[in-house]
Amino acid sequence: MSKIILTGDRPTGKLHIGHYVGSLKERVKLQDEGDYDAFYIMIADAQALTDNAENPEKIRNSVLEVMMDYLAVGLDPTKVTFFIQSEVRALPELTAYYMNFVPYSRVVRNPTVKNEIKTKNFGRSVPMGFVNYPISQAADITAFKANLVPAGEDQEPMLEQTREIVRAFNRIYRSQVLVECKAILPENQACLRLPGTDGDEKMSKSIGNCIYLSDDAATIKKKVNSIVTFPREIEAPGILEGNVLFTYLEAFAKDEDFAKFYPEFKNLTKLKEAYVKGGIGDGRVKKFLFEVLDAELTPIRERREKLAGKADELMRILEEGTKKANQVADATLEEVKNAMGINYF
Ligand code: ATP
Ligand code: MG
Repeated sequence: MSKIILTGDRPTGKLHIGHYVGSLKERVKLQDEGDYDAFYIMIADAQALTDNAENPEKIRNSVLEVMMDYLAVGLDPTKVTFFIQSEVRALPELTAYYMNFVPYSRVVRNPTVKNEIKTKNFGRSVPMGFVNYPISQAADITAFKANLVPAGEDQEPMLEQTREIVRAFNRIYRSQVLVECKAILPENQACLRLPGTDGDEKMSKSIGNCIYLSDDAATIKKKVNSIVTFPREIEAPGILEGNVLFTYLEAFAKDEDFAKFYPEFKNLTKLKEAYVKGGIGDGRVKKFLFEVLDAELTPIRERREKLAGKADELMRILEEGTKKANQVADATLEEVKNAMGINYF
């Protein structure tokens, strides 16, 4: 079976360390292993507009920011096709057909959507487009016949919805046109859903509780220092449960970081053992966490700075990728319409 990878991000801001450990790192690994037939990365501007209709310039401006983040972490346009969602017209058409397979009650039961509706303060005016975005995501994935989707844990309900649509379509139209997909989730538990610096359960551009890949050292330090921890005397036992500092260390700290920045301990297990016994203040842990993050983010930030003046080049990469994406998505749309018998002329 061919391996087709598709993934994407909403251009609602710059990318953050949650994206990095939740999906970007895995993408770079897959890219470098090279064991795939096609690899698409979509900038989901149409999806971003479903909860930002009144703020289109934020979405537009973020497209290039996200592109800079991609290249800065090491994604390579000669190996990956980058495209802009709204420029692929087959996608909303597929969405319209797929909507007929999904009961209204099913859409509003989606746990990620439910949670996002709560945090986004829509009040009583939840946009239809927003409620519908899991269905448009099914169109994005199936248009490319993608079977592998590297993503964070919050995407699992979207992929389940996509599989349900694929099965319904193939059953009703007795076809094999659409392909089922599965998520590629990070193995490290801490990376499945990295919490925000405010302790919220998910770091998210829309909440603003993020450490961005582009943050400079001083900003990272300030954000790390702002993380609220349980108040205690230094000698008192430290608590690991719900401790964001340690979740970040789980996601980022390597044994080499200990050798370089915290040689009293060999690895995170040793530091944790000492921390729960007491005698290690959170200030010391924050200092180490800052050093770990800064060491990982500095090369990314430096590559990103070099890309800042290259807007035209980045746009050309997207334009070329979008052309290719249109060819593939148009071909799938035609197959879908043939299967449905709505091929009149
Ligand atoms: P928004 O608030 O606009 O939804 P976001 O920060 O949630 O932005 P998305 O563009 O929705 O980012 O997500 C892009 C990808 O990054 C998805 O695969 C998602 O699962 C992953 N991701 C986002 N936030 C996290 C996180 N905190 N931890 C792990 N993965 C994440
Ligand atoms: Mg999101």
